[in-house]
Amino acid sequence: MHLSSSLLFTSALLAGGINASPATNAYRRQGADMRTIIGDTTPVLSNTTAVHFPGSGDFFSVTERWDIYRPPSYQAAITPTTEADIVSLVKMAKQHNIPFLATGGRHGYGTSLGKCQEGLAIDLSHFKDVTIDKQRETVTIGPGVVFADVFPVVSDAGYQVQTGTCSCVGMIGATIGAGIGRLDGVHGLVIDALESVRMVTANGDIVEASKTKNPELFWGIRGAGANFGIITQATYKMHKSMGDIISFDLIYEPEQNVTLFNTVANMYLPPGLTVETIMSYNQTTEKPTLIVSSTYAGGSEAEARRWMQPLLRLNPWYKDIKAIPWKRMSKETALGLDKEVCANSQVFDIYGVNLRRHDANTWVKTFNKLAKFWNEQPAAQSSAVVLETWPNQAVVAVPDSETAYPWRDATTYVMIQMRWDAPGNPVETVADAMGRELRNDYAKTSGYNGLTVYVNYAHGDETPEQMYGRNKLHRLAKLKKQYDPSSVFGFHNPLPTSYP
Ligand SMILES: Cc1cc2nc3c(=O)[nH]c(=O)nc-3n(C[C@H](O)[C@H](O)[C@H](O)COP(=O)(O)OP(=O)(O)OC[C@H]3O[C@@H](n4cnc5c(N)ncnc54)[C@H](O)[C@@H]3O)c2cc1C
Repeated sequence: MHLSSSLLFTSALLAGGINASPATNAYRRQGADMRTIIGDTTPVLSNTTAVHFPGSGDFFSVTERWDIYRPPSYQAAITPTTEADIVSLVKMAKQHNIPFLATGGRHGYGTSLGKCQEGLAIDLSHFKDVTIDKQRETVTIGPGVVFADVFPVVSDAGYQVQTGTCSCVGMIGATIGAGIGRLDGVHGLVIDALESVRMVTANGDIVEASKTKNPELFWGIRGAGANFGIITQATYKMHKSMGDIISFDLIYEPEQNVTLFNTVANMYLPPGLTVETIMSYNQTTEKPTLIVSSTYAGGSEAEARRWMQPLLRLNPWYKDIKAIPWKRMSKETALGLDKEVCANSQVFDIYGVNLRRHDANTWVKTFNKLAKFWNEQPAAQSSAVVLETWPNQAVVAVPDSETAYPWRDATTYVMIQMRWDAPGNPVETVADAMGRELRNDYAKTSGYNGLTVYVNYAHGDETPEQMYGRNKLHRLAKLKKQYDPSSVFGFHNPLPTSYP
């Protein structure tokens, strides 16, 4: 239960000190500090909305995020409990030039988010509703919903819906980039399930967007959705359950790398079959390790085994094959490591690349580079490369012009995860350079004209063309100018307001 607003606000204002930091932000130049501004705004907020300052009560728990590499920093966090409060907060932040981030699952990791310094966190974690409409076969969610919240409700109603792989990621946060995952080949991207949204714009207006209402905005949201406003509600089309998912966890000897990469690179993937290849280092055996986590949706285990023959034939030294309910897909695939992968407050310096061509030689080359790197840099041995080879039949069945997302023809999403124990470790320089070098290697043979990246996997140093696609930018920039001309939603790989 929330305390009454006056008590909450008073205690929050009294508790914890804000660092007297240099007056770098515009609102400081205006002569007001954030406590005063928030204090002045409280009368219009509902009495269940909670405000937190550094050092006070829940500040850490409402701002803790997955990645602590180059993170944003906040002078205050507010947990609104009504849409009207979100409107008031956006208006307040805009009026006082307060930099802010709306946060859902707090698994965003691009370094562009770290440009929000001494700002305000609009913590959306209160909005956890997941509502099924069986007649319309839709599920409607709030912006605090993560995939783990969606699985049981949709599944228990007899349906499935596109999701990402890990349980802890915000569903709307993933959707607004595109939302890639294990059902891509069968049902398409998460944006392909999206039917409509409600959004608070930079002006504090509430708009709805769908194929029939504000269709141009709806087009832009599906691929660049962090740029236009705060989505307060999203409705998705569900699909009748296809039954259990067949999961294959396989581990290969590092010496099998050439055969394994050639097999994955040349393997035919029917719509239901996904292959995730993970290059990592086993600190117990002190050896590189090659893990494959595959899933098959929409068929029997016998059928799945037939499609998986090319990988099974290579005799992995570890093999765990099982049927699992779709709702436990995140938790029980990939060696059941979801909990560890989801753990908060870790250093992840991530570089992403899209591939539409699979060049096994590049994969071998990067594995050899990594093996050397792991050997020479023990402090960064938890670094890994993850290749998500998702079939894209249903993704390319949707015309490219239908949504802003520009990379429907991608067949593998590479996530280069450079890791070390804590910020400030001197290994950062060499690890970061390795991340960039590997990205470069993959980009060269990606089948695209240089580097392209799924915007939600972007590092933050890419150009708008590399994230949003040259062909989409003119139209996207027009939308940005219309809905957010002063770029208050400007920290998540922001769009320009004019292009070219
Ligand atoms: C472990 C892990 C696994 C992942 N797996 C997948 C995957 O399988 N598929 C996939 O597509 N992506 C995946 N991602 C990437 C993921 O889509 C992005 O990191 C996404 O930004 C996370 O959203 P969030 O709400 O959790 O994060 P947050 O940090 O809360 O949000 C990131 C940014 O998104 C914007 N945003 C969030 N919510 C809203 C909203 N309601 N309205 C407007 N803007 C909003 C804001 O700018 C916010 O700062 C993964 C990330 C991690 C860390």
